[in-house]
Amino acid sequence: MTQTTIPRLTIVVPCYNEEPVLLTSAAILGKILRQLMTDHEVATDSRILFVDDGSHDQTWAQITQLGHEQALFSGVRFSRNFGQEAALIAGLQTAHPYSDLTISIDADLQDDPTLIPTMVAEAKAGSDIVYGVRNDRSTDTWFKRTSAEGFYWFMRKLGVDLVPNHSDFRLLSRRVVGALLACRESKPFIRGIIPQLGFPSTKVYYKRQPRQAGASKYPLRKMLRFALDGLLSFTIAPIRAVLYAGLLICGGALAMLIWILWTHLHGTVVTGWSSIMASLWFLGGFQLIAISIIGEYVGRTFTEVKHRPRFIIQTDTYSPKFSTTQPAAVTLHFDRHSAIK
Ligand code: UDP
Ligand code: MG
Repeated sequence: MTQTTIPRLTIVVPCYNEEPVLLTSAAILGKILRQLMTDHEVATDSRILFVDDGSHDQTWAQITQLGHEQALFSGVRFSRNFGQEAALIAGLQTAHPYSDLTISIDADLQDDPTLIPTMVAEAKAGSDIVYGVRNDRSTDTWFKRTSAEGFYWFMRKLGVDLVPNHSDFRLLSRRVVGALLACRESKPFIRGIIPQLGFPSTKVYYKRQPRQAGASKYPLRKMLRFALDGLLSFTIAPIRAVLYAGLLICGGALAMLIWILWTHLHGTVVTGWSSIMASLWFLGGFQLIAISIIGEYVGRTFTEVKHRPRFIIQTDTYSPKFSTTQPAAVTLHFDRHSAIK
C-alpha cells in the first residue's frame, strides 16, 4: 500500500474485564497516536477503538468516560462475551469503512506499542500486512511457551501456514481487512486466515512484556479450545489421518487373516483369547476416536449453516464520529452486514 495522502489509522483493542489495565493502556496508546498525528504520519481523526467483549467489570464505563474526555477514544460494546476473535473481527469491521490502516493490539500491552510508528512506516513503504513477532518469550510461563511452540510445530506439520510467535499484534491495510471480512466462517481463526490472503507483508520484532495488570483471560481450558478451533477450522488433516490409520489397520487385518489361514491349514490350534481381546479393544477405541473426529466436523458444519451472527454489537460510539446517518446507542449491529433498528 503506497500512500500519497495521510492515512487514517484505527487501533483496535479487544477488552474483556480489563478494568485494572485499561486506563494505563489508553494513556500509552493515546500518547503514541497523538505523536503520530503531530508528525503527520497518520490523519488527525485517527482513533483508538476499544471493543468491550461483554465485560462484567467497569471496562465499558471506563471506555465511555475516555470517549467523553477525548475524541481520540471510542468503543463498541458486545451484548455478551463472544471471544477475542469475534472482538477483533467486530473492531475491524466497524473500523473498515473509515480506516486506511488498522492495528490490533491486546489491552494488556504485552505487545510492544512503541513499534506502532514502525508498523505505520512499513505500511507506507508498501506492506499491506505488518506482523508483530515476539523474538523473546522469556516473560511467558514455561507452560505457555512450550505449548505455543508445540502448537506452531503441529499446525505446520498439518500444512497450516502460521507466522510463529505472532499473535494478534498486526497492522492491516484497508484491502486486507476487506478480504478478511469476506471470509464468512463463524469462528474465524484470524492468525491462520491472514497469511492465506496473500498481499505484501513484513514482520517487526519485539520482546513480549509481562501483563501490566490484571490476569490472563486465557485459562488452560480456553487455550485448548482455541487451539482445537484453529486446527479443526483450518484443515481436514485429522480426518485424513483417521483414513490412513484405518487403511493401516485393514492392512494389518489382512496380514492377520493370512496368518490365521496358514495356522488353520497347518492344524495349529489357536486359543488366541488375548489377541482377540486386544484387537477388540483397540478397534473399538479407534472407531470411537474416528467417529468423534468426524462428529466434530459435522458439528461445525451444523454451526456454519445456521448463519448465526459472529457477534452482536449493543453500542457503538466509533461510527457516529464519522457518519452522521447512523444513530448510536439504539442500533443493534450484527455481523454479516445486517442491522436492525
Ligand atoms: N479477550 C477478549 N475476549 C475474551 C478473552 C480475551 O476480548 O474472551 C482480550 C483480552 O482483553 C486481551 C486479549 O484478548 O486484550 C488477550 O487476552 P490475554 O491478555 O488475557 O491473553 P494472553 O496474553 O494471556 O494470551
Ligand atoms: Mg495478554
